[in-house]
Amino acid sequence: MSETRRWLCWFSAWIAVLLAAGCLVPQSAPRELRFNVMGTYASVIAAGHETGRAEEYCKATETVMRGIESELTIYRTNSLLSQLNALAGKGSVEADATLRANIELAWKYGDLSHGTFDVTVGPLVRLWGFSGGKVPAAAVPEDRIQAARALVGYKHLHLDGTRASLDQPGMVVDLGGIAKGYAVDVCCDLLRSRGARDFTVNLSGNMRCFGRPAPERPWRIGVRDPFDANGMLGFLDLENGMAVSTSGNYERFVMIDGHRYIHIIDPRTGRPVEGMAGVTVISPSAADADGLSTALFVLGVEEGSKVIYGLPGTEALFVPDRQPLEIDVTRGMTRFFHVRPDLAGSVHVIGDHPQH
Ligand code: AMP
Ligand code: MG
Repeated sequence: MSETRRWLCWFSAWIAVLLAAGCLVPQSAPRELRFNVMGTYASVIAAGHETGRAEEYCKATETVMRGIESELTIYRTNSLLSQLNALAGKGSVEADATLRANIELAWKYGDLSHGTFDVTVGPLVRLWGFSGGKVPAAAVPEDRIQAARALVGYKHLHLDGTRASLDQPGMVVDLGGIAKGYAVDVCCDLLRSRGARDFTVNLSGNMRCFGRPAPERPWRIGVRDPFDANGMLGFLDLENGMAVSTSGNYERFVMIDGHRYIHIIDPRTGRPVEGMAGVTVISPSAADADGLSTALFVLGVEEGSKVIYGLPGTEALFVPDRQPLEIDVTRGMTRFFHVRPDLAGSVHVIGDHPQH
């Protein structure tokens, strides 16, 4: 054997050893797969050595999300949630683990937000033309608002062992503010139990990330500009296990008498929230991020930031619905949020005095 051939043999033997050890396996770009579910879109990204498993991850996620949707949708009369609503004031349903988990989360965010997050807001959501309600032709009269408001109160949603019930006829539970985040957490747990390490699961802006998209790089998530459908305010660099959720006034709205009303309702007034354009929350779980982004959207900057103060790993970014543009962030959020350079002067840290 010539010297060159001997060297080549030695070299290829080493390459084979390194490949077998996974040291030299080329890293493919992260692979994203999307599907439609819960009337919106979902996506799964697999990265690193797992890009080849993207289809498997996506299939598992889709199956889980469809299962949760079929139980918790209010758009089908035979879903478990619709049965609970139909029996309001009359009886109870046998709640499985999914419904029980969502009820417990609903109580948790209800308590944390002093009742401004309330899953029994259904009669008001429908009154204003959302979640299957008819869009009112003219301004909604105050007596109808107060009549629907009288049916709202998450303390009237009960779990007795495994039986769930609502104690007033006409009450309606609407899990639109937390079910997506809950679904993302369930899918992440499933993928992790199957060995997944570098991936994200996203359901309509409720996202959770694990591992990294590439060595030394964090998952980077854009934060949408509520005033520009194609613009970004900046991006968030998320660490292993972190979740993010945004509630925005641009997501769903109706026009009544030339006025724009959005889909998030303040249970204290019975009216759609005004004055807030977007709230983004990062948190250690997608259910928390989802529930809290809706709650903070109702509460606003001052009260909302107090609610999350002291919750480990939980930070918020608020964009009030006014000009000039203002981005209010909790102090901890500044570690993760990187503002678009031309908007640097619009960022205020909550609690700090604005710089002039
Ligand atoms: P999100 O997009 O996560 O902020 O959730 C908004 C959805 O939550 C709405 O479309 C309603 O289904 C529901 N919702 C509206 N207002 C409230 C509220 N105050 N508390 C809980 N859920 C709400
Ligand atoms: Mg939410």
